[in-house]
Amino acid sequence: QEYLSAINAANPALNAYVRLDPEATLAQARAADQRIAQGDAHPLAGVPFALKDIFCQQGWHSSCCSKTLDNFVAPYTATVVQNLLDCGMVALGRTNMDEFAMGSANETSFYGACKNPWHPQHTPGGSSGGSAAAVAARLAPAALGSDTGGSIRQPASHCGITGLKPTYGTVSRYGMVAYASSFDQAGPMAQTAEDCALLLNAMASSDPLDSTSLERGKEDYTRDLNRPLKGLKVGLPKEYFGEGLDAQVASALQNVINLLHQAGAQTIDVSLPQTELSIPAYYVLASAEASTNLSRYDGVRYGHRAARFADLEEMYSHSRAEGFGSEVKRRIMIGTYVLSHGYYDAYYVKAQKLRRMVADDFRNAFAQCDVILAPNAPTAAPLLGSSSDNPVQAYLSDIYTVSVNLAGLPALSLPAGQTNAGLPVGVQLVGTHFAEAALLGIAHQIQ
Ligand code: GLN
Repeated sequence: QEYLSAINAANPALNAYVRLDPEATLAQARAADQRIAQGDAHPLAGVPFALKDIFCQQGWHSSCCSKTLDNFVAPYTATVVQNLLDCGMVALGRTNMDEFAMGSANETSFYGACKNPWHPQHTPGGSSGGSAAAVAARLAPAALGSDTGGSIRQPASHCGITGLKPTYGTVSRYGMVAYASSFDQAGPMAQTAEDCALLLNAMASSDPLDSTSLERGKEDYTRDLNRPLKGLKVGLPKEYFGEGLDAQVASALQNVINLLHQAGAQTIDVSLPQTELSIPAYYVLASAEASTNLSRYDGVRYGHRAARFADLEEMYSHSRAEGFGSEVKRRIMIGTYVLSHGYYDAYYVKAQKLRRMVADDFRNAFAQCDVILAPNAPTAAPLLGSSSDNPVQAYLSDIYTVSVNLAGLPALSLPAGQTNAGLPVGVQLVGTHFAEAALLGIAHQIQ
């Protein structure tokens, strides 16, 4: 009730939630109350959560903030959502996002942009902007996001909350609308690293319904929360600290470096030489996968179908022309181009080779250090409207986040201060595969 009335009051201006169903939410809350009264409840029972519009939830409109799926009611529930519901957690509603998770400012949403709760003229970041804004504005204690190329970490950073992108394969992708399947990974967003650890405990599972889900035993992600940081080696990649990094972001990083030193950690310089090439590699590969994944929206079985067409061909083309926004069309065109005969070797195969080189860069760096400290984005949250004016500039602002997805590594964004204008600034900790517990522990102790 408390959260629903807060949402009622703040959401019309913020636009963090795109769909609510108070009756369904309260019915879940009553069921959780009953389980708690019976004394056999999970510790998270009754805790409300918000979920990005990308996750299927049976009986709910699950639209991925696209006109194409505006009328789509999911016939089944994503495994990660089911895992939280099974604990007795209560779904508050569906949060705003860039259409099909393509964007960095939440501006490509069919339902309009979400605002940054700290500064309504600024973006909350994207694509999981609604989830980040909902948690920051205290309209949810926790939220689900997804990160294909930074979409959990960057909005968490811009909204002053904590977000974790787990190792690829940790959280099932079943029921999460596919953007670029070899990158997509769901993760928790909350105020603190401790909350993210508790959420990840509930979210992670091996899932026979997702062939890329990892077969690993249950882990306790809270296990290292208080593990001393003395002797920890933190790598600072020199390519991330140079030109293009805003001075106020650099000073937030310096604060974190000081805190790490105080806790007994040491910092060393490392190098990730392919950093600059990670942007073209990511945008070639993610667009290629997107063009394939989005071919399913043909207006035949579900999704938007044009009202007027002369033949089957026209039914496809009109439905897709009307259903997709311009950023999604741009990605489909890039992806189709790089996969086409004659360009496949020059772009797609080259980008795959670069992907391996980026992963090798991290492997070499982790031979010298335990974790890497980096910015999430070159600046604090930009003004609303700036990314739609200049899409290529928006792609370039993903420079510090996409390498992690190319390599499938875990990374966490934590709040680290604010700009003179009062906008939050976050920093990023990157670990080796399966280092989630260690990242959460470091963040917990310096937060
Ligand atoms: N800006 C990235 C993109 O548009 C972020 C995507 C994501 O992580 N979902 O591809």
